[in-house]
Amino acid sequence: MADMKKYVEDVLELVKRRDPDQPEFHNTVKEVLTTIVPVLEKNPKYAEAKILERMVEPERVITFRVPWQDDKGEIQINRGYRVQMNSAIGPYKGGLRFHPSVNLSILKFLAFEQVFKNSLTSLPIGGGKGGSDFDPKGKSDAEVMRFCQSFMTELYRHIGPHTDVPAGDIGVGGREIGFLYGQYKRIRDAYDDAVLTGKGLTYGGSLTRTEATGYGLLYFVKNMLADKNDSIKGKTVVVSGAGNVAIYAIQKAQEFGAKVVTCSDSNGYVYDPNGINLAVVKQIKEVERGRIKEYAARVPSAEYHEGCKGVWTVKCDVALPCATQSEIDLESAKILVSNGVKLVAEGANMPSTLDAIEHFQKSGIMFGPAKAANAGGVATSALEMSQNSMRLSWTFEEVDKKLESIMTNIYKNAKANAEKYGEPDNLVMGANIAGFVKVADAMMAQGLV
Ligand code: NDP
Repeated sequence: MADMKKYVEDVLELVKRRDPDQPEFHNTVKEVLTTIVPVLEKNPKYAEAKILERMVEPERVITFRVPWQDDKGEIQINRGYRVQMNSAIGPYKGGLRFHPSVNLSILKFLAFEQVFKNSLTSLPIGGGKGGSDFDPKGKSDAEVMRFCQSFMTELYRHIGPHTDVPAGDIGVGGREIGFLYGQYKRIRDAYDDAVLTGKGLTYGGSLTRTEATGYGLLYFVKNMLADKNDSIKGKTVVVSGAGNVAIYAIQKAQEFGAKVVTCSDSNGYVYDPNGINLAVVKQIKEVERGRIKEYAARVPSAEYHEGCKGVWTVKCDVALPCATQSEIDLESAKILVSNGVKLVAEGANMPSTLDAIEHFQKSGIMFGPAKAANAGGVATSALEMSQNSMRLSWTFEEVDKKLESIMTNIYKNAKANAEKYGEPDNLVMGANIAGFVKVADAMMAQGLV
């Protein structure tokens, strides 16, 4: 039998040699490939068909110029991207991120993750990701609109309800999706509402989509704890971020009876021993688009601390990173473990570094990896596409019920595969294997694509 560990190492070397300047992409490829070795050993057909070499190469990468004019009349130029990673099981699906840190390495990492996450949802969606180094922070609505219109003036030719269906991500919320859809419709002269998800409720959006990633994360955590005859009720929870994912994770955690004591943004974090007052966070972040520092000025029991890393020094039972990639490094993981954390589940994409994950696993901490735990967002996006195609809209309760059942199935599927391959508590391995097999089999069935 061929040495599959060696095969994986060779593919990793190939990826690094081809694109030496893409560390985020290398990390995610390493995380996925090193955990699926047992499946490769059982099924040598994948190596013979060079499935891994094919999977690490995007089907298509588009980069483009995005010129726009700011409110002072000055011309600005940003860079736009769309990475169409894998369409074996459905049209490319994945968000758009507008943030100054956006580059090809980050988008390829996110698109690669998205392929396996989307497969895990059991819905027919392939994987992609896109965005721009544009920073919406501090821009007027008119500037954001002009940027979005210029971005879509190029992107429209590469997307479509049966080709590629973008959604939101960091820096892209309801406002941006509205401007993007308006421009798409104007250019195409067609009401193809299933071309974008995360739309407003008046023009084809789905109820529960806004809440879906955060709620889904808590449904996943509920399953993890139920397996140990436990629940989140009465537990102290640390959440990072104060954006879409964080806000609705806090909301559902509180509904489940947990006490959430922190949230953060890229400047710092707030600690509120009385439990975060979510109405205040929503007012600051959703209505005023302000900074989380404001929370401490409005809520007397809260303290504000500069810098985001300190959030992981707050003692808790459950930690839910919901801000961005690599926010929990080994040092923070060690502090969390020595402070007695029992469970870590990822709302953001790859918020824990590889050595942090290894430390959690070695320490016997329950660990819910992003591609399983935060899949509720994209799953609900797929439900939005279904409603658009049927010209129907389901009630909040209907979508929420489907979301909960999808998250339970994702948990069961990841757990069953972890058990099948001999590491029953390793959900990283279980989720990667479950996601991989479906995509690999679809690629095998479709010939040399
Ligand atoms: P938002 O833009 O709504 O919120 C992001 C939050 O994270 C903000 O509080 C932001 O603070 C903070 N943040 C951003 N960058 C950094 C940084 N470099 N360091 C510290 N904090 C930072 O995005 P979402 O909530 O939508 O996304 C959060 C994460 O969840 C991302 O990893 C995203 O890929 C992932 N995700 C999102 C899904 C969705 O449905 N929205 C689905 C699945 C995953 P600030 O305001 O200061 O920038």
